[in-house]
Amino acid sequence: MPELPEVETVRRALERRVLGRVITDYEVGRPAFNRPIPAEALRGLKGSRITAVHRRGKYLLLHLSQGGRLVCHLGMSGSISFSGDEGHVRFRFTAGGVTVRIHDPRRFGRVGCRLPELGPEPLSPAFRPDSLFSALSGRRAPVKALLLDQAVVAGVGNIYATEALYRAGIRPDRPARRVTRAEAGRLCREIKLVLRRAIRAGGTTLNDQAFKDPEGRPGRFALMTAVYGRETGACGHALKATARPIAGRTSLYCPRCQA
Ligand SMILES: [Zn+2]
Repeated sequence: MPELPEVETVRRALERRVLGRVITDYEVGRPAFNRPIPAEALRGLKGSRITAVHRRGKYLLLHLSQGGRLVCHLGMSGSISFSGDEGHVRFRFTAGGVTVRIHDPRRFGRVGCRLPELGPEPLSPAFRPDSLFSALSGRRAPVKALLLDQAVVAGVGNIYATEALYRAGIRPDRPARRVTRAEAGRLCREIKLVLRRAIRAGGTTLNDQAFKDPEGRPGRFALMTAVYGRETGACGHALKATARPIAGRTSLYCPRCQA
């Protein structure tokens, strides 16, 4: 699933190609997404100029000169491309001669104009050790489940939660309320660090999740993971999966470096 660094990579590519351009045409695929695109999102789209391309968590926001905005979420398997493969195109628009295609084989993505309630942006000053500590304290749920909760922190998914917990020395299945203040501080720092490194690498591309940026280039972060997608951790120890999946996901950790 595209997480914050992949969506940010897409955002930057869109900004380079379509910022300031006028949308001359659009087309909704048949079938489109599982959730239909609301009419209000499409109203006035043609003829609008794209005045800003923002990101919030895993959502892309295209602000439009007619006053509205287009909010896109790539779901489980969605991608955006400027060219190539026509398969599974759920939505496309042309702005300044560039055609932007949203592909989504599984149709879980969405296009609309509303954002759900989201927690702090992890790379902003609003995401701080004390705010993370208070979000974790008193909660019985595994710490990783809370990191995946978009109301606790926006944009973190399985890959980057796994990496940050490893680097902070915290087992993913530890009850959140047993994370100390100092550990929450370390975890907050590691989340920021791992997301920044992944953005610099253009996101993560794995065999089973073939992320490519809209220009068709794969991300390079998979080459740098310490845990995710590996059998042996960066520490040299054999990795284990938690006894139960967390939020439906297999969760790897190092039994010697994480407690
Ligand atoms: Zn280890």
